[in-house]
Formats: sequence, structure tokens, C-alpha cells
Amino acid sequence: MITRGKKIYEGKANTIYETNDPNLLELESTDRISAGNGEKRDVVEGKGLTNNKISTLLFKLFEKNGIPTHYVCDGTNEHSKVVRKANMIKLEVIGRFITAGSFCKRYGIASGIPFDNMSFELCYKNDDLPEADPFISPSAAAYGLHLATIDQLEDIENYTYLIGLVAKDFFAKFGLTLVDFKVEFGIDVETGELILCDEFSPDTCRLWDKDGKSFDKDVFRKDLGNVSETYKKILEMVDVQ
Ligand code: UDP
Repeated sequence: MITRGKKIYEGKANTIYETNDPNLLELESTDRISAGNGEKRDVVEGKGLTNNKISTLLFKLFEKNGIPTHYVCDGTNEHSKVVRKANMIKLEVIGRFITAGSFCKRYGIASGIPFDNMSFELCYKNDDLPEADPFISPSAAAYGLHLATIDQLEDIENYTYLIGLVAKDFFAKFGLTLVDFKVEFGIDVETGELILCDEFSPDTCRLWDKDGKSFDKDVFRKDLGNVSETYKKILEMVDVQ
């Protein structure tokens, strides 16, 4: 049986614990929420539980579709899970189906325009730079900053397309359009395998209903309504089995 050890990391939204197995960690989704590189912060009651359940559901679906993930089993409480220990690749990998957020700001384009195909973007995960998490090309990431090898980046791109398609079809069943999403990968410390880590939740993607209403962190970012109720509604929609 897996038991929880000492806390080793406290991120913006997740807390990580050691376990009695050196190759496994326990990842707890907390109720903390933040936006704008931590400038806007709050606590949203129940978010840890909803995000953990939504993310777990999706990670299981990704595994079924051939994407290796860090998920091992449920954790010691309802907002945590046991995951494979990985050396995180310092990249935020973004997939987009419809224009929104920073894409609109960067290129001066309206929100809500569908892409012909999913777009794949990389950002260097580094909050200490003048522009936090700047946009980076695969060759600069591989040959300049040595964040990943070019082969790993090719796998990351292929997995991200697959993740996008699987997640888009999944949410479409519940009348929600997947607009964009962010994922992160790591290298399993035991096997050396590239695996999907972190989370896939309303904190890390944009979901719109048929009227373009947001069911994601934009509700917090733009003060569009009750964040806790919004996240609970998504869980009610998707947790149908
Ligand atoms: N995203 C994220 N963490 C980040 C940056 C982006 O989870 O640090 C997600 C965001 O929620 C959205 C997608 O990635 O679903 C694309 O975000 P974008 O680049 O438009 O940046 P934003 O406008 O969210 O700052």
C-alpha cells in the first residue's frame, strides 16, 4: 500500500508529497487558484476535488489512447493521486483549436476564430524572466537551452495532437468546445520514458458552451461568475459513468 511521506513541493495550485516508494509521488490538487503569473490569487472551495477528478478521468482516457502518463492510482484522499516521479521538462505545451487569450493579444486578432487544424506552441517555463514563460521554438528549446532533445520534442508534438483530439471529442459529448489547453511532460525517473505529467483541468484549458460562455479559469481571470459552481458543473457533466 502507498503511504504519504513528507511534503516536497508547493506549487501555485498543486502540492507534492513523497511516498513510501522512491519512484512514486502523491500529487494533491488544492483549492488555490491564481492568474497573471500569480498576481491575482484566491481560494476556490472544492476546486481541488473537481480538478483532481476531471484530470484523472482525462488521464485515464489518454492512457487508453496510447499516451503514457504519470497517473498510477487514486491517492490517500479525494483530491490527490499517486503519480510516477519524473524530471519535468521546462516547457509549457499549448494546443489551440480556436483563437483566445494570449494568441489574440500577441497577433492582434479577434477571439473565437477556429483554426484550420490544431496549432502547437511551446513556451519556456521560467517565471523569473522579464516576460514570464516566453514563446520558444523547438530548435531553440533543443539546441540552445537543452530543455529536451529534438526526438523528445517530436514525441511531445505527436502526443499533444493526440491529447487535443481525444480531449476535444470527450468534451464535445457534453456540449463543450475545447478552445485551447496547456500540458506538461516529464521523463520517468525509473524508466526514462517521456510521460504526460501535471494536469488537464478547467485551470489549464478553455471550454466554451454553445453560446460561447466560459467553463474554465477565465471565469476567475475575468470575474465572470462563481468559479466553484462553474467547476462543479463541469464535473457533473463529465463524471457520468
Ligand atoms: N495556460 C495554462 N497555464 C499557463 C498559461 C496558459 O494553463 O501558464 C492555459 C490557459 O488556461 C489556456 C491555454 O493554456 O487554456 C492557452 O493560454 P494562453 O497562451 O492563451 O495564455 P493566457 O491567455 O491564459 O494567459
